[in-house]
Amino acid sequence: MSKGIRTRMVLALVGAALACAQAAVAQQEPDWSKVQIKVTKVSGNIYMLEGQGGNIAASVGEDGIVIVDDQFAPLAEKIQAALKELKITDKLVRFVINTHYHGDHTGGNVPFSNAGSTVIAQDNVRKRLETGGTAGNGGSIKMDVKPAPKPALPIITFEHDVTVHLNGEDIRALHFPSGHTDGDSIIFFPRNNVVHMGDDFVRYGFPFIDVASGGSVQGMVEAMEKATAQLPADVKVIPGHGALSNLDDVRAFTKMLKETSAVVQKAINEHKTLDQMKQDKILAPWSKWKGDFVNEDAFIETLYNSLTGRKGEFVKHN
Ligand SMILES: [Zn+2]
Repeated sequence: MSKGIRTRMVLALVGAALACAQAAVAQQEPDWSKVQIKVTKVSGNIYMLEGQGGNIAASVGEDGIVIVDDQFAPLAEKIQAALKELKITDKLVRFVINTHYHGDHTGGNVPFSNAGSTVIAQDNVRKRLETGGTAGNGGSIKMDVKPAPKPALPIITFEHDVTVHLNGEDIRALHFPSGHTDGDSIIFFPRNNVVHMGDDFVRYGFPFIDVASGGSVQGMVEAMEKATAQLPADVKVIPGHGALSNLDDVRAFTKMLKETSAVVQKAINEHKTLDQMKQDKILAPWSKWKGDFVNEDAFIETLYNSLTGRKGEFVKHN
């Protein structure tokens, strides 16, 4: 990944909804006017939009536009303009589906809602946006989340799944509990053979798992395995962050999650402390996955807290 990824990822998490250290955030705030929205045709009438923050999937057709995730508020006009530029429809975005509550995926909810879009998400997305709280891995990655304003809140929520029937497709959002957060959905576009996996699948290396918001590595593995099992071999996969992918990429990611989890679980069984695991560099064989955002130590913390059920501040044992 390019350098600056940490800034982007931190900002991604901070989004419009997170409070964080205001001064630091202000310094990291990108020049939104320089952000360009890149549109890639994925398949049929499904497009992937990249700008700043999480990837967007868009179903664009005569019934209107459905987008999955909406990046940051200052980019909403550019996103809408990029969709109009396809010259398929002049209609505004009709539905926004949020894959989870983080600000780099929901930051555009306010402007899109104000422009008339209906925001849809799993129950816990609305709850976490409404209350705010803490996002983090239970260790060194920790950010305060401000309560979001009313127009940011999804007005249609679901517990398990919901289907939006538009543009000749049954666009299905299916909840997978306790993966990246406790409100994740994976979005299927079956007619076009495309899936948007939200941040349950990312391409920036070791994933951020928001243990503080109900995420867990076990849930992330389960989500990947269950989703993969019901997808055709040649499905096009839009990750939460990073380049368009395929099922082999998802399998490699899942394999890494399982292997690293097993190593940390073994160390836990041997009564090693978290500090010992870091000192022993037990994830060294997977160092190619280390990113600027989640390095090996941060991922050890993530796995340790996830596997021991620690959600908040890490409490040293011994
Ligand atoms: Zn996220």
